[in-house]
Amino acid sequence: MALKDLILKYAPIVGQNIGISLYNTYLYKQRHRGHYKAYGDYYRHYENASPQEVAQEAQNRLNEFLLATTESSPWYREHRGKSLHEFPILEKAQLLAHMDSIRTIEEKDGIVSLTGGTTGASMKVIYAHKDMQERFALKDHFRARYGYRLGKKVAWFSGKSLVRPKDLERGNVFRDDYINKIRFFSTFHISQQNFDAYWRAFCDFKPEYIVGFPSSVYDLCTMALERKLKYDGAVTTFFPTAETVLPQYRSVISEVFGCQVVDQYAASEGAPFILECPHGSLHIHPLTGVFEVVDENLQPANEGEILVTPFTTHGTPLVRYRIGDRIKLAPESFRCACGSSFPVVEYIDGRTSDFIWSPENGKVNLGNISNCTKDVNGIICFQVVQNEADAVHVSVVANERFTLEEQHHFIDAMALRLGTTVTVHLDLVDEIPREPSGKFRLVKNRLTPELMQVATVQGS
Ligand SMILES: [Zn+2]
Repeated sequence: MALKDLILKYAPIVGQNIGISLYNTYLYKQRHRGHYKAYGDYYRHYENASPQEVAQEAQNRLNEFLLATTESSPWYREHRGKSLHEFPILEKAQLLAHMDSIRTIEEKDGIVSLTGGTTGASMKVIYAHKDMQERFALKDHFRARYGYRLGKKVAWFSGKSLVRPKDLERGNVFRDDYINKIRFFSTFHISQQNFDAYWRAFCDFKPEYIVGFPSSVYDLCTMALERKLKYDGAVTTFFPTAETVLPQYRSVISEVFGCQVVDQYAASEGAPFILECPHGSLHIHPLTGVFEVVDENLQPANEGEILVTPFTTHGTPLVRYRIGDRIKLAPESFRCACGSSFPVVEYIDGRTSDFIWSPENGKVNLGNISNCTKDVNGIICFQVVQNEADAVHVSVVANERFTLEEQHHFIDAMALRLGTTVTVHLDLVDEIPREPSGKFRLVKNRLTPELMQVATVQGS
């Protein structure tokens, strides 16, 4: 067991907090060393550069990245000299299976980042230090536009498991980094039962910023609304991470905490960045990598799956990597009021597997599924699981206002979207467990592509 885990398991809470404070400070130092400052200046400069200058620099970075990749990665060696669209597409399964020939550095020479894969297989990506410093420089530069800097009070809701059962009994649901003024909340225990402990800890702390899983912050907010609680502090901005930000997350969170919600996209495998500007547009940052949007036949499109070529993955180079997310580009004529020439994305649709399959209607996406709760009273949260093409199981955590009548409303709304051939089974539950990563999944689709095929044939 690593020292960090030993401390988490056995040390008293104050001792743990001190440990966390020191460890975090060490991490920040590591990220802020070397090229960090230079990259901060770099991104500030290109924020206001002309579109021509940005395009030129993006091309330079792509050339440099492909050259470095084909020189140091055995997997990519044979593609030396090719232009981007001549490279093969990299599938997730290939990345998992051929990691050792794709990567260019040893674990000990870089920073290891673990991500949860869709199949539960976790993926290990090694970052070069310089790339990590660049990613943090850009992230900090982005958040600084909203007044954030290290040392401001932040409530953090991430997937770290940091609370033990005996802590829960005592109502302790967080850990503190005293040095950097961060309160880390456990995202695994937000429930009706633990709500008071969370609310008290949040109100006492009075953070200026919130960072983390939007579904967790949303859960906390819904429970506060149910109890007609008013938050008397003032949160400036919430920076959601890791999950798709659904419209109701935005409205409920800003209602309860009075904050703006500013979204970003940057998957942990090392995707290029999409960042929300103060005018509410999601801008692709062209100096962080290339986004190719493709349709089902992998041909260029305005809406569809993305292939990413991030410039900050020298340690584990990803070229035309099929990351599993979808976006829709705004029309080229669209000009954002913020003045930036960076391309705008109309929406980002998290994981491509986040849909329910309907033999009648095809893929029913996350946004549509989540809309089923509109005008339905009493639902606190829910999850749809599909194991067969003609049925779904919906687990609902609800309060007493979710009467039989409301249940029918909800099932009708679901049936409207899924069509008449899909049976909806409703289960009322006390709690819906999160994924091992701490993320909440609204939709779990366990159908194989073959099953969907069969379903289409039978349904048509
Ligand atoms: Zn803008």
